[in-house]
Amino acid sequence: MKKLEFYTFMKKIPKAEIHIHSEAAVTEATIKKLYQQNKDSSLINSKELDNFFSFNNLSEFVQCFIKLQKLLKTPEDLKYLFEDLGSYLQNNNIVYAEVFFSPTSFLRKGFEFKEMLSIIDSKIDQIKKEKGITVKLIIDVSRTFGVENAMHNLSLIQKLNDSHIIGIGLGGDELNGPAKEYAEVFKEAKKVGLHVVAHAGEDVGPQSIIDSINYLGIERIGHGITAIQDKELVKRLTKSQIPLEICVTSNLFTKKVVKKMSEHPVRYFYDEGVFITINSDDPSFFKVSITDEYWNLYSQLNFTMKEIKQLVLNGFDAAFISVEEKKKYTDTVLAAWEKAEKEVHN
Ligand SMILES: [Zn+2]
Repeated sequence: MKKLEFYTFMKKIPKAEIHIHSEAAVTEATIKKLYQQNKDSSLINSKELDNFFSFNNLSEFVQCFIKLQKLLKTPEDLKYLFEDLGSYLQNNNIVYAEVFFSPTSFLRKGFEFKEMLSIIDSKIDQIKKEKGITVKLIIDVSRTFGVENAMHNLSLIQKLNDSHIIGIGLGGDELNGPAKEYAEVFKEAKKVGLHVVAHAGEDVGPQSIIDSINYLGIERIGHGITAIQDKELVKRLTKSQIPLEICVTSNLFTKKVVKKMSEHPVRYFYDEGVFITINSDDPSFFKVSITDEYWNLYSQLNFTMKEIKQLVLNGFDAAFISVEEKKKYTDTVLAAWEKAEKEVHN
């Protein structure tokens, strides 16, 4: 299949995205709108505004992310993030998404958790009503701010009891926040019925993945690419079928394990029988969509269309939804796939 044909085909296929951050689909138009509202040139100048998403390394990326967070001056501003997210999901025919929301930096600015969630929830409900897309939230309790803060995040979640929140995740600085330290937080989260995931094996070696499984009991692994350095761990992942949330372009950008797309371990993991899902992580920042990622697998990592179909199905299978919902989505994907195949041949 040629590129255009592939994109036309994939546009027809309903997809799930289960590793994407709430700030990640923000558009340049929104950045400009926020800048106009603020008129705060100490945050960002007009030259930076024109090249907002251009950065060359991880630290510039982090700076860019922080700048965006600073531009969000009131809880009300969070609505723009979810409006952009809604458009991104619709453009890629993503019908189900689990989105990370990291509240800590906003809480530290004085935003109320309850108020933030009420604005986010109304946007999520609007996305459902207008576009028919289901969005659920995973609260990133972040290892960057320490265990006490993570526990505080959890208590806010428990107090609010918001039906859109389905779990917690451990994101942030993997190097300085070993999974082990968060065992209590995750134990407590599971006790109250929340799903648990963690970014692991993105910046740090395989031990970080092992610890996340052993100490946190995680149900999915964000990235997990350093498992490539430990064959025993790959065997364990195959056996346990704990899904990996693979974000190919994001890994290329951080350059920890992967230097070239064609060398990404996703091919090896898949061939070994590891449960793989495909995601975009931060689409605006890495200038990549989930559809682009499927194209990357197809064009550079020798994934066949049959394998791509399996990966799309895996996205729903790994989602935190009921068996009935999984079945419903699977049927929809298979029907859309069959129809799209017929249209290619006609
Ligand atoms: Zn991520």
